[in-house]
Amino acid sequence: MNVLFASSEVFPFSKTGGLADIASFLPKALNGIGHNVITVTPYYPSIAKYHNDLEYLGTKTVYFGLDNTKVNYYVLNEGSNQTIFVQNQHYFEREFYYGYDDDDIRFMVFSYSVLELVDLLKDIPQIIHVNDWQSAPVPFLLDRHYRYREKYQYIHTLLTIHNLQYQGSFGLYSSRLFNVDFDYTYVHFNSVNYLKTGIETASKINTVSPNYRNEIMTEKFGFTLDGALKNRENDLYGILNGIDLEVFNPETDSLIDKNYTSSNLKLGKQKNKEELLKEFNIEITKDQPLVSYIGRLAVQKGINLMKESLEDIINDSNAVFIFLGSGNEEYQNYFQSLRDKYPNRVAYYQGYNEDLAHKIYASSDIFLMPSEFEPCGLGQMISMRYGTIPVVREVGGLKDTIHPYNKYNNTGTGFSFYDQNKDVFKDKVLEAINMFNNEPRKWSQLVRRALNEDFGLERMAKEYTDLYNKIIGGK
Ligand code: ADP
Repeated sequence: MNVLFASSEVFPFSKTGGLADIASFLPKALNGIGHNVITVTPYYPSIAKYHNDLEYLGTKTVYFGLDNTKVNYYVLNEGSNQTIFVQNQHYFEREFYYGYDDDDIRFMVFSYSVLELVDLLKDIPQIIHVNDWQSAPVPFLLDRHYRYREKYQYIHTLLTIHNLQYQGSFGLYSSRLFNVDFDYTYVHFNSVNYLKTGIETASKINTVSPNYRNEIMTEKFGFTLDGALKNRENDLYGILNGIDLEVFNPETDSLIDKNYTSSNLKLGKQKNKEELLKEFNIEITKDQPLVSYIGRLAVQKGINLMKESLEDIINDSNAVFIFLGSGNEEYQNYFQSLRDKYPNRVAYYQGYNEDLAHKIYASSDIFLMPSEFEPCGLGQMISMRYGTIPVVREVGGLKDTIHPYNKYNNTGTGFSFYDQNKDVFKDKVLEAINMFNNEPRKWSQLVRRALNEDFGLERMAKEYTDLYNKIIGGK
């Protein structure tokens, strides 16, 4: 199957979150089973270091409102994987990926560029697979401006929503960029809304876990688009993300201090823990558990709940804590002050650090993810791959991926709770810490069950193949 996969971030070229991981894993996994998936993404300054390996493909002019601009396409070939970078110095070569006043123009340019690219490709894609608001206008633009061209006549579209909170919402003045007479398809509550445009016009839509798929059709999780999504309920699917089991593999991971398998996990973790915490000047004894958090410091991630309860948890337990992430300044200050107050118990690294993330996953015993909402979440799956037990809130993909521990029949793969209440969260974390401390046999059984969960890419690739087939078959 020929698919053009459009994403505003692709690991390792650009990344702010899970979208970049999936935009890297999924096309590779699909190509691995014989599909021809080409990835297209903007050429940011972070791409420059690959420039010598790129091949020039062509140039196109895109028109938006009364403006136009030229974009160059460069191809990176890596075995059966092809990534095409859309280069436009003015719009994409900036310090950050998002957050500019002209993001409406920048990602409309990207969306038109995706469509123009089709003209330069050897094989016409059967599906253009777009991701999140940054490429969500594509299905609409395809219908309105490209259908009449022979090459574009039969192209279908899939919109994957990785996070409904980010919608690409702009003032009505942005409507000029669509190059059509005023149209309510792209209007939502008196604003232009790129994601809604995609929701209304894509052949099919999916999100990144079955549970989040159901949640987003409710007012509570719908971020005002629940109605639009409900209207497309029959075309809306939930496909759980996967992780690359080779990138995240405690047996072979070269980023961690000591590799380990399920049979020497305890010792392996202990060694990794000691090395890691040495860097933060913390001494840890054999019987102290390490509790961690890795992720964006955003409201979504349940940081408020952590703020309310972490100090109590520190005082009521023997655990050591490590936090990795940046974002909201108030949260950054909070973790800094927690570290300053408990220098022997709390480590904090502010920023984005891939190597450190691997070391933390490998060293920790318990991983916190008390998210307010969570489309899928990768952290909990990566944790389990390293034998680290997640404590999660039962929402979105967290609910799909964690079986709650049941002490009566000794089943489950993690700890979960629902109420956003500081005592409920505190009790769950303490339950995990106490089990680690007092029931080592049961703890190792729990770890083994978590390790045996398979969140690999094969299942994900197969489910996307099935969905592509449904789309092409017009089902
Ligand atoms: P989201 O996409 O909402 O940010 P996910 O859990 O889906 O959250 O994906 C986050 C990914 O980014 C995971 O692979 C996680 O390990 C990684 N990550 C998040 N923050 C950091 C950080 N500060 N340093 C290194 N990796 C991080």
